[in-house]
Amino acid sequence: WIALLVLSTTCLVASLGLYNAFRRKRPHQAGTVQGLCGLIGNTPLVKIMSLSEQTGCEIYGKAEMLNPGGSVKDRVACQIMQEAFASGRLKTGGLITEGTAGSTGISLAMVAKAYGCRCFIALPDDAAAEKARLLEALGAEVQRVRPVSITHPDHFVNVARRRAAAEDCAVFSDQFENLANHRAHLQTGREIWQQLAGKVDGFICGAGTGGTIAGVSGSLKQHNPRVHVALIDPPGSSLYNKVTRGVMFTRQEAEGKRLRNPFDTITEGIGINRETSNFKLAQIDSAFQGTDREAVEMAAYLMRNDGLFVGSSAAMNCVGAVKLARSLGPGKVVVTILCDGGQRHLSKFQNPDYLQNHSLAAQHQGQQLDFVM
Ligand code: PMP
Repeated sequence: WIALLVLSTTCLVASLGLYNAFRRKRPHQAGTVQGLCGLIGNTPLVKIMSLSEQTGCEIYGKAEMLNPGGSVKDRVACQIMQEAFASGRLKTGGLITEGTAGSTGISLAMVAKAYGCRCFIALPDDAAAEKARLLEALGAEVQRVRPVSITHPDHFVNVARRRAAAEDCAVFSDQFENLANHRAHLQTGREIWQQLAGKVDGFICGAGTGGTIAGVSGSLKQHNPRVHVALIDPPGSSLYNKVTRGVMFTRQEAEGKRLRNPFDTITEGIGINRETSNFKLAQIDSAFQGTDREAVEMAAYLMRNDGLFVGSSAAMNCVGAVKLARSLGPGKVVVTILCDGGQRHLSKFQNPDYLQNHSLAAQHQGQQLDFVM
């Protein structure tokens, strides 16, 4: 009887220990949280089994698609609102504005409601109709504007900035230049460090505003300056040049190349031809270029082998993770960001007909990573 009692007590203590370990990893999964913002962040790190087996490294993806708004941008929206309230620039009933065709609009619309604020999103005309409908369903006021260059007063970013300037209690969120963006990702980096108990050798992701790579590199390098941080850059972007040669496009290149536009790459949210304030803070050791074909093959690969359904930037980030793993060598721990899920990409990146029509249909089968160059 005594042995049985000791055994059952040991089992109970062990299972409580496991339960607590799990709770610490994902507090909001097991506990209660304060409103919508309590659901944001503390996302799990998923070990991507196929990529890890094939590279001989441990490759982890930060599962940002599990945020309530479905993307990494929830963190940024929350931080921007928090800081705007803390500084007194925004109050309940006030207005937050942004010009975006991406996930930031969706995140801001949701978080604005949680703060009792209104949200205005300027959206280029050529953005998919579902995007405008979703934003409206989330209570945002949406203005469609014709696609023009950023220097034109009617560019969607300028429309959003003017709208904020026209009202008293209104703030332009300004995700590219607002450093609250990178501060949101200092926390992402802290989470990665804690989740791996400091056992991280490399981090890689693409950059749009640059907030993710700036924030994550900032906190990882604060813990250990030897963590190798790399950028993966899609076609049409000049950040690769910036990191490897210290310059964006040379004038001749810029003249020959057009500025990045939607036709340069199928990936969304990453790649840019100017250095934003957030990107300037990134501490980057090396850079890789990725192609659309590699990203498409990677998305199909992750679905086929791991059951992971990812968006275009997440797929490109995983291409980068493989390139970085190969360059660091076997046995290393490499982390990247799974920015959003494939659900938001069903009309383009995750649409076999669209890919076929653009000669990008995935061709590879099996577990080999030979499509990553
Ligand atoms: N992926 C998606 C889906 C995005 O919307 C963005 C933001 N433009 C990024 C990646 C890039 O992240 P960051 O802006 O922090 O560089």
